[in-house]
Amino acid sequence: MPDGQKFGFDTLQIHAGARPDPATGARQVPIYQTTAYVFRDADHAAALFNLQEVGYIYSRLTNPTIAALQERVATLEGGVGAVCCSSGHAAQIMALFPLMGPGLNLVASTRLYGGSITQLSQTIRRFGWTAKFVDFDDLDAVRAACDENTRAIFCESIANPGGYVTDLDAIAKIADDEGVPLIVDNTSATPYLCRPIEHGATLVVHSMTKYLTGNGTVMGGVVVDSGNFDWSASDKFPSLSAPEPAYHGLKFHETFGNLAFTFHGIAIGLRDLGMTLNPQAAHYTLMGIETLSLRMQKHVENAETVAKWLEADPRIAAVTYAGLASSPYAERAKRVYPKGAGALFTIAVKGGYEACVKLVDSLEIFSHVANLGDTRSLVIHAASTTHRQLTEVQQVAAGAGPNVVRISIGTEDPADLINDLDQALAKAVG
Ligand SMILES: *Cc1c(COP(=O)(O)O)cnc(C)c1O
Repeated sequence: MPDGQKFGFDTLQIHAGARPDPATGARQVPIYQTTAYVFRDADHAAALFNLQEVGYIYSRLTNPTIAALQERVATLEGGVGAVCCSSGHAAQIMALFPLMGPGLNLVASTRLYGGSITQLSQTIRRFGWTAKFVDFDDLDAVRAACDENTRAIFCESIANPGGYVTDLDAIAKIADDEGVPLIVDNTSATPYLCRPIEHGATLVVHSMTKYLTGNGTVMGGVVVDSGNFDWSASDKFPSLSAPEPAYHGLKFHETFGNLAFTFHGIAIGLRDLGMTLNPQAAHYTLMGIETLSLRMQKHVENAETVAKWLEADPRIAAVTYAGLASSPYAERAKRVYPKGAGALFTIAVKGGYEACVKLVDSLEIFSHVANLGDTRSLVIHAASTTHRQLTEVQQVAAGAGPNVVRISIGTEDPADLINDLDQALAKAVG
């Protein structure tokens, strides 16, 4: 297995975490479709349960196919370890779980995937956790939102739905000053376009459902640990620094050092929350990651071409793509995301709600779906679908007004994508 320090991204996306199967020599990572693993003897079983030896017990916690994927993603992100789980939303809960508790809060960006806004504004309240939503362009407001009960700062690198690019270095500085971890959802950027740990992130989460798998086949999530946070520097993170009652008083930070968060994620998180990825899904994601850099280059190239064409079209009122020279975020995008600003953006269509509905119904190559990050180009009209329950004022605040369509550019021929948009806009706007 290549060493993450020595090899380039294109090599690591194929080789990291994979080694010829010790039993058969199989070159590709086998799908270990098994629930349990036979212990060598009773002493071996005891050592595994005591976390004195690393190995396989039961696939809710660990599985060799998933272990290969964890090592691959951790290597690509520049982290020390990773824990895979059943979806991107599961990854968010898995990342927050060791940090939070009743009465504690996190500070989150207003610009997030719609499902994340619902999860963090509504559902986590059932656990006694709250989120304070702040505009992450207003650094003073982010700082002001942090209080003695804050345990994390949460944002996306390239954010939904408009492809907004976050100034990760500036946000990481605030997290450092406040003594709390920065969690970055790197789904839309992928480690090819951005490695948040290099910008100061403590934890990176992904919906592997999107670009990492890449072709819309399976659900998956992952939490990557930078290994850089000192969990014992304060008494804010007792699950990691103090005796953990859910593991007979084990002190994770003292015992596992910079792997404390990863071990806690497996030994407590997966064990007790049970949001486990399945080996078949891990296989599809491993296949996808082998071509990540090639796909992302093409996604970005296509997005730049299509966004430029849309910007010049009189039927379009606005294009939010940060990769356009005209974007207010162009300078930041070049600095933090030098390989490209991703392939996700929104357009405002002249003719409003009716024109948008006609546009999505008239497209032939683009599919109207609630997904992104597929080889196929995708669109969604948020106001009539994902953001339907919101008032028009809330829709506009979320960047999903009635005249807005979100576009996820795929890897098809860009001329075909432009022709498709052209014919559909002719029907929708005239
Ligand atoms: C899709 C998505 C999620 C949620 O992931 P699932 O795999 O659908 O649970 C979280 N964040 C972002 C940015 C996403 O695009």
